[in-house]
Amino acid sequence: MKGEGVMPGYVPVIGLEVHAQLLTRSKIFCGCANRFGDAPNTNTCAVCLGLPGALPVLNRAAVELAMRMALATGCVINGRSIFARKNYFYPDLPKGYQISQYDRPLATGGSISIDVDGQTRRIGLTRIHLEEDAGKLVHEGFSSTEGASGVDFNRSGVPLIEIVGEPEIRSPQEAYLYLQRLKSVLTYTEVCDGNMEEGSLRCDANVSIHEKGSAFGTRVELKNLNSFRNVQRALEFEIARQERVLEEGAKVVQQTRLYDAGSGETRPMRTKEEAHDYRYFPEPDLLPLEVDEAWIGKVRAGLPELPSERKARFIRERGIPEADAHLLTLEKPLADYFEQAGGLSGEWRETAKWIVRDVLRWAKEEKLDSAKLGDRFPPARLAAIVRARASGSITAASAAEIFEEAWTSGKEPDAIIRDRGLSRITDESAIAAAVARAIEENPKQVGQYRQGKEAVFGYLVGQVMRATGGKAPPDVVNRLLKDALGKPAGQD
Ligand code: ADP
Ligand code: MG
Ligand code: ZN
Repeated sequence: MKGEGVMPGYVPVIGLEVHAQLLTRSKIFCGCANRFGDAPNTNTCAVCLGLPGALPVLNRAAVELAMRMALATGCVINGRSIFARKNYFYPDLPKGYQISQYDRPLATGGSISIDVDGQTRRIGLTRIHLEEDAGKLVHEGFSSTEGASGVDFNRSGVPLIEIVGEPEIRSPQEAYLYLQRLKSVLTYTEVCDGNMEEGSLRCDANVSIHEKGSAFGTRVELKNLNSFRNVQRALEFEIARQERVLEEGAKVVQQTRLYDAGSGETRPMRTKEEAHDYRYFPEPDLLPLEVDEAWIGKVRAGLPELPSERKARFIRERGIPEADAHLLTLEKPLADYFEQAGGLSGEWRETAKWIVRDVLRWAKEEKLDSAKLGDRFPPARLAAIVRARASGSITAASAAEIFEEAWTSGKEPDAIIRDRGLSRITDESAIAAAVARAIEENPKQVGQYRQGKEAVFGYLVGQVMRATGGKAPPDVVNRLLKDALGKPAGQD
């Protein structure tokens, strides 16, 4: 908690509801394409437009992706779940109801684990259920009719899972880590592309605070959170706001609030009294969803190594520090890249360091998708630099230069080393010659050093390094120079 010292011990309680679009080819109850970015209302039919008499047919692939996520998070899949109508009016919902699941969801239990301050915490999942997405209102680009809005039904009927988390998150930072890991699991399993800009991943945050030892406080639901950072910031703002309310002796009102990313504040949208009564009832047009053990077993067998497992393995088998292992396993293509480059160089820790420090920095500058990293800068190219450095044939300074040139020009590191003559000088007689020349050309500094002014030693090292084009190993230069100069006065 962001305690300012004057506050009593308030404990924040956070629970997140995440909607994820499933990577199916067609929609959940019809054969229309599930594809983002097409011209408005081109992927529609009687079913997803909600025309009278049209009947939904459940998409098996959507069920299977939902099962993948459920199994990847350790949920129990219910053998029989029920679709329900969630009734409400909105212009993007032509049927007047959304088909969802209510009291009998597809999956329950399970957890997402996060690593906080060197400890692993498991945040429980209440449920994962299947539902359909609504259409989308478009408020811009209608020049013919000033102020008009349009509606695009391409999204209507796109399969979603809602992942409801238990109120077990204790800080905005934990909420951020939870979302990060959740997204990793969704993308590793290829259940969802995790793209928040395109709306394939959306999050609502519930937050309350209470005094230590008391029951949970009244919760506020936050909406309009379009990045993980904004979830964190909105929660920070909201916790501070609730603290102020309680400090003033007032009560937190149960309400839905909208986050304004511009001001960093939340403002009321609707209170409990204005909340919908969805009048849920079982969907009469769909049979109960039956999932047997054989199907569950098949889906489970198709799961990849999960991010938490991969991270633990990088730490255990490759000796990678936790922070690096965390970054390297956020996205599967990056973890694959690391394994390829590390396998080629045989230097795992160094490879991790280079990726985290250099590759990711340059890739970020180009807004490069991790899936494209291998094409942009092949793992073999990184491995060549790491290997040359590890074998001692180039200096650290040269390695940095080589990386930069290889990244910007696409040239192979070995060619750069050869063409620029960056191979480290291993011939000590050549270094000794440069040392002798430096002593000869700098009698004043040599005199000062011999009289005890040790600071000029660095200057002489610099002369030798310059004469050798930075290719002499600094430790060898130091040793030869010390030998040649003899001990400064006053030392023995
Ligand atoms: P609703 O459908 O009204 O949003 P849910 O039962 O689906 O209600 O719960 C929504 C979320 O609220 C869950 O993620 C849960 O963890 C969270 N939550 C429940 N109680 C609290 C609380 N006191 N403080 C913060 N979050 C809470
Ligand atoms: Mg809810
Ligand atoms: Zn359709």
